[in-house]
Amino acid sequence: MPEKTEKANSPELSNASTGAHAEAPAAGRDPLTIHHRAIAIDMHADTVQFMLDDGADINQRLTTTHLDAVRMKEGGLDAQFFSIWVEPELYGHGGASAVRRADEQIAAVRALAERHPETWTLATTSADIRHAASEGKLAALLGLEGGYPVDEKIESVERYYRMGVRYMTLAWSHSLSWAGSSGDEAGRTRGLSDFGRRVVREMNRLGMMVDVSHVSDKTFWDVVETSTKPVIATHSNCRAIADVPRNLTDDMIRALAAKGGVVCVVFYPAFLEPGWQEKKNRVDAEIAPLVDAAGRKATGRGSFRRIARDRVREREFAHRLPPVSVARVVDHIDHIVKLVGVEHVGIGSDFDGIQAVPAGLASVADLPNLTAELLRRGYTEEDVDKILGGNILRVMEEVERGDGRNF
Ligand SMILES: [Zn+2]
Repeated sequence: MPEKTEKANSPELSNASTGAHAEAPAAGRDPLTIHHRAIAIDMHADTVQFMLDDGADINQRLTTTHLDAVRMKEGGLDAQFFSIWVEPELYGHGGASAVRRADEQIAAVRALAERHPETWTLATTSADIRHAASEGKLAALLGLEGGYPVDEKIESVERYYRMGVRYMTLAWSHSLSWAGSSGDEAGRTRGLSDFGRRVVREMNRLGMMVDVSHVSDKTFWDVVETSTKPVIATHSNCRAIADVPRNLTDDMIRALAAKGGVVCVVFYPAFLEPGWQEKKNRVDAEIAPLVDAAGRKATGRGSFRRIARDRVREREFAHRLPPVSVARVVDHIDHIVKLVGVEHVGIGSDFDGIQAVPAGLASVADLPNLTAELLRRGYTEEDVDKILGGNILRVMEEVERGDGRNF
């Protein structure tokens, strides 16, 4: 979910997303045709919070989210990992309310498949994704963003696994006692504790992917040292281009690749474009009164007020901040490919968790624009297949084997 401050959606942007896709660069290499043939997997979207807190029915075309089933089909996106994000400021860093909030979100995703089996299937394996794609159904998958609802109990990891969760981002923007975050002061020195290492080993045993997006540098290196399985970054970019703590250094990218892992590029402009974050900070200060007023006007629990505030932020960002291009997203893909090869890159949009989107990537319907840019730069269809989903399927297959005990 939200990079602390990223989130929301705007009608203007969503309407734009239904517009035309980029032109095919060459006959037989039409991006949309490739999307409909390839298996495309997005590793991160925060749509579930809108389903729970805003009553979003993602079986219909919406203008209030970046993602729904209709636009997934238009964009040729086959599988979505839904972020189960427990906002620590509202639900705690653990305890009953964090667990309840995670359980509610998991239930909401499971209900999608139960109530709309003609459209959705709950997927927990790479084979499930392939099967859903072959039947023309959308695969819904679960990723837990932040280990807060683990509640410092090792048995929680298996509980979430059994509920269908197939990756866990160890920390979000707040450090846990057992895993440092890139988003706070504690994370400057905190890595994995002994308990944190047990969590990683338990995930390896069960066959749950370990996600290092959001974690502190020290946690990153502790994970790489501890995990016996490929490690992924579900929504992170390259510090070599945009030097922010949420992105990965070249050494980190090399280390993930050496373990067989994948870096999934995120569409949030602050992680794409150098200097964008500073500009956003200035705009945040300017619009603070507007944002506060929207939060005060909203009624209900804290998550409702956050959505109201984020809506104002997205609207204002669209007017006040410079657009970032699809080409910039591909710059990050290119950088990873040049460092470690096309086998180690994927897509993790963070749609519905970001309050600004690149021009030309206003919703899931626009994903073929990304493919068009890859083709324009000379990527082959085979490369594109790997980037869109093939690489993640490979990691899932490896991680699914677990450590061979009990499952
Ligand atoms: Zn996130």
